[in-house]
Amino acid sequence: MRILVSNDDGIYSPGIAALAAAASEFGKVRVVAPDVEQSSMSHAITASRPLSYRSVKLPGLEAYRVNGTPADCVALGAYHWDRVDVVLSGVNEGLNLGNSIWHSGTLAAAKQAALLGLRGIALSAPPSDDGDAESLKPWIRRALETLLSDATLPLVNVNFPRRPRGFVWTRVSVRRYDGRVVPMKDPIGRPLYWFTIKALEGAEPGTDRWAVERGWISLTPLRLDLTDETALAECRSKQPLDDEAAAAEKRPPEAEAERAVREDEAETAKTFA
Ligand code: MN
Repeated sequence: MRILVSNDDGIYSPGIAALAAAASEFGKVRVVAPDVEQSSMSHAITASRPLSYRSVKLPGLEAYRVNGTPADCVALGAYHWDRVDVVLSGVNEGLNLGNSIWHSGTLAAAKQAALLGLRGIALSAPPSDDGDAESLKPWIRRALETLLSDATLPLVNVNFPRRPRGFVWTRVSVRRYDGRVVPMKDPIGRPLYWFTIKALEGAEPGTDRWAVERGWISLTPLRLDLTDETALAECRSKQPLDDEAAAAEKRPPEAEAERAVREDEAETAKTFA
């Protein structure tokens, strides 16, 4: 099994060393990670400048650093290494529960794998006192045992509590989110702002936050399709548009609309051709 390991904390983070060490028991490991921290970069890709891919000396590991985002790292990693089976991302220093999935670079690396048709697993834990996630290592191994053996799971978000009791399957907690802008002043009195996110108290049973708050390791299977199926069905029945005509059409006139969309999407790519 070919296992590509990445993260958003940067290639010198202790969490990625712990994950790569655990992964080595399951297959051939290669580390491709950002040269500096890229936390909260979500799924950004670098489209306005070229990227580099440089070998790095890490004890006992084949490793490369990229001057880009977590998603860039996975794209370059898969480009340089044929037949990658799975991408592991983490172990992030900090949990990625609930709405954090929208901001997380850790999850984005796993999501990039899923977009490329590979499997992706994101792993996050609270910042550890010992720095090298030593106490988590047996739990990381068990998480990999559980997830690597199931090739049908394209994308999973894993969160470890500080002192785990075991594993549970969960859903994403979406109810509680407190995004606040905190104003302050620079040394000469000009306004500055921090955007902070705080999870509100309590969580829905069965969710990732609920599990981790109770000491369980949370495994959340995710999908790329964000369509709200219930809303879609309601929209179609409440306000019927031209859906029926569109679905019934054998072939659009001259396929011109289709061609126009493809051309618009190719604009950016052409710049680099
Ligand atoms: Mn991070």
